[in-house]
Amino acid sequence: MSTLKNIPQTMNIPLFIGAGRIEYGTKATPTPGPGQLLLEVKANALCGSDRSQFFDGSTTTPGHEASGIVVAAGEGAVTPIGTPGVAFLMDFCGECRSCKSGFTNQCFNKRADYGFTHDGGYGPYMVINESVFYPVDPSIPLTEATMILDIMGTGGHAIKRAKLVHKDIRSMLIAGAGPIGLGVLAMAKILLCTEIPVFIMDFVPYRLDLAKQMGGIPIHLGNQSLAESVQAAGLKGVDAAIDTSGKTAARQSALDSLNQRGVLICVGHGEQLNLKVSADLIATERSVLGSEYFQYHELEENHELLKKHLPYLSQIITHRFGLDKIQEAYELFFQGNTGKVVIEH
Ligand SMILES: [Zn+2]
Ligand SMILES: [Zn+2]
Repeated sequence: MSTLKNIPQTMNIPLFIGAGRIEYGTKATPTPGPGQLLLEVKANALCGSDRSQFFDGSTTTPGHEASGIVVAAGEGAVTPIGTPGVAFLMDFCGECRSCKSGFTNQCFNKRADYGFTHDGGYGPYMVINESVFYPVDPSIPLTEATMILDIMGTGGHAIKRAKLVHKDIRSMLIAGAGPIGLGVLAMAKILLCTEIPVFIMDFVPYRLDLAKQMGGIPIHLGNQSLAESVQAAGLKGVDAAIDTSGKTAARQSALDSLNQRGVLICVGHGEQLNLKVSADLIATERSVLGSEYFQYHELEENHELLKKHLPYLSQIITHRFGLDKIQEAYELFFQGNTGKVVIEH
């Protein structure tokens, strides 16, 4: 094993003990095995999907939006020590039919979800298989580098899913202006024509203000209805709707707002959707698709886009906390008045 410097044998880690409480403890610093890398974590972004780990507890160290620097490499790993980069959530096999066709987010033999089944980015160090590491340009600050994961990755993948079935999207609706909703908005502006109207609906004024600043048309559901807002813009409906909220009511109203040939993409996990197959699918030729995380190869394109649009995308990160303030960070994040919140090591 090659290493950059003396790595401490033990590390302080946050313990997610449940009931929304975080304590701190000590754990042995992991050693990378064959084909693995040891990352010194520099930043990890909070995510809505950490909710159950925060409230119900976790035996592993959470954190699945990590960036860091390679400080040790196991046997056979070739990434140079000192390389900055990010960790892709899913440890895909690289051999199955899905992986061979690029669908690494749908691996048939997935070995790990870092931050869920294996220790993640809230520890000072984490071990990952080299195949899920993606190096980033040293010009990108490592806090901002986390955005090529869930923000740009998940957001962009949802838009690409919509484009699979609708080639001429001229209007879009996003349900939920949380970090993933803002990521979808940003990627819609970057990947589609910036002039197309992108409505974004939520109940939290803070998030809607941020969405407006990023070029979205905010719909405050406490004050206005979706249908009225779309009509006020001179439209009958939208071509694509992306649900990041996971709520039945939001999915239902998003589906109802679609034009003929429209497509609904469900990104947020959660509740159900009731389909009237004749009216919703057959007569109108609408589509409903799911979109899960993103494919490893998308990191390459998103890395270029992040370099190009760094100031625009950086607006999504609204709060930064130290590793000793994870508790405060989650409390603020789940109360809603934030964009992306990042823990910096
Ligand atoms: Zn996430
Ligand atoms: Zn696979």
